[in-house]
Amino acid sequence: MNNFDENNEFVKRPSNNTQAGQQTPQRRVATGDIRRPNNAPQSNREQIRRPAQSNSNTKKQAPQAYSQKAHTPKIKKENLKIKSSDMLRNILIFIAMLAGLLIIGFSLLLSSLYVAPEKVKANYTYIYDGKTEFSSVVVNKVLYMNMTELSDMCNFIVSGSKDCLRYTVDNGEFAEFTVGSASAKINADIVNMEGAALVRENENVWIPLSFAESYISGLDIQYDEEHNTISINRQELSGSTKDNPFYSKITFRIKGSQTLDGIKEDTDIGAVTTPDFINDLSEYEQYMDPQNRDDYLILVNKTSHIDENYLPENLVSITNVRKDGRKEQMVECAEKALQALFIEMKSAGYTDVSVTSGYRSYNKQSSLFNTYLQRERANNPSLTLEDAKEIVLTYSAFPGTSEHQTGLCVDMHNLSSADVSFANKAAYTWLKENCYKFGFVIRFPEDKVDITGYSFEPWHYRFVGRYHATRMYNLGMCLEEYVDYLSRAEEH
Ligand SMILES: [Zn+2]
Repeated sequence: MNNFDENNEFVKRPSNNTQAGQQTPQRRVATGDIRRPNNAPQSNREQIRRPAQSNSNTKKQAPQAYSQKAHTPKIKKENLKIKSSDMLRNILIFIAMLAGLLIIGFSLLLSSLYVAPEKVKANYTYIYDGKTEFSSVVVNKVLYMNMTELSDMCNFIVSGSKDCLRYTVDNGEFAEFTVGSASAKINADIVNMEGAALVRENENVWIPLSFAESYISGLDIQYDEEHNTISINRQELSGSTKDNPFYSKITFRIKGSQTLDGIKEDTDIGAVTTPDFINDLSEYEQYMDPQNRDDYLILVNKTSHIDENYLPENLVSITNVRKDGRKEQMVECAEKALQALFIEMKSAGYTDVSVTSGYRSYNKQSSLFNTYLQRERANNPSLTLEDAKEIVLTYSAFPGTSEHQTGLCVDMHNLSSADVSFANKAAYTWLKENCYKFGFVIRFPEDKVDITGYSFEPWHYRFVGRYHATRMYNLGMCLEEYVDYLSRAEEH
């Protein structure tokens, strides 16, 4: 039950991402450089075609250089008075030569006036992940970054040969660099970099920093002009603490390269329409899509704790509970919405799913956690208490960090006990595609393990109401990301 190896399998499965082609870019953006309206290109194509030096800084020099042309010399009039045609021809040749020299002169002047962009000129010190330091490397006026260091920081999987290295993130996306080549491969696409990939001391691979700015999302790249430093960190999500940070997902954003100037409310995302149901569920509308729609966004996780004494209001019995004598409760609004979900799910042919767990008090979670802890230590007596705790934390919440204490979530499946293999069931596929219509989201999705801090749980569903569930579904965000997204959207 613990440490689901299956996670990787699901992450890699293409069907997870192919449910809608358009969603992938949004997801990249969502986890990406939202905080930083960066100077990434508006589109990849633009970046590809752009010559290395034709950035805005070069253009700034242009007026200065062109103003020199005002000094174009005047041809002396007395020369023209000499009537010999030979002389005239010589003079014309002379003028042509003079003009040629002037053009060369101006070209040289122009090139000497060209000042490399500020970022390139400075001798920066890199700070990766707040600690490791490297001096910047500038080759042909292109500022490079240490990809080996970044890879260590972001836990990329490195493969390939010494001359052709591939860096893979946990959803299977990769970037591949060939030493000496300015072409990089991102999955199926080829992009041109400002300069070639290089190998320097200690076999570290260096690539133009602009590549990271343009094509890697989930990074914070900060220039400090005063101290000549460039800090590269993984973006932290809101709610992170110093002791327990959780990070944005790192992705290569070849498909979702649009630059965000802060978050703009997307009307497509906001358009939440009433779904077409097989059954008449109109009496459940008020629960699936509650008027006080922001009341169900409470975030409980490993860093955002719920008070020991928190007791949800309006707890009612869950109708579609497993028929083995157990009794489970849930907040009324969520329970009614869940009833609607079950009506529709049964009509779709999935009749064997039932709720195995709903509201859990702090004390119940506490005893559950201790039970798991003892089981782990019984299975492996050499484990220290801390080691065992770490293992249990991958599949069970520490008391005060369980969402079940909110009364807004359930575990439901058609297995004897909750297991990741539920993801292989057709009922899961139906839930995954439809639960948002009833106001539910998969709380711990397969591709958000880094963010939620939990293994993939295909059985755990959280009520947030249809409005927010639909937007989360469309944005491809888990609750941590979505709450963060909302707080940033409010800032703009
Ligand atoms: Zn659960």
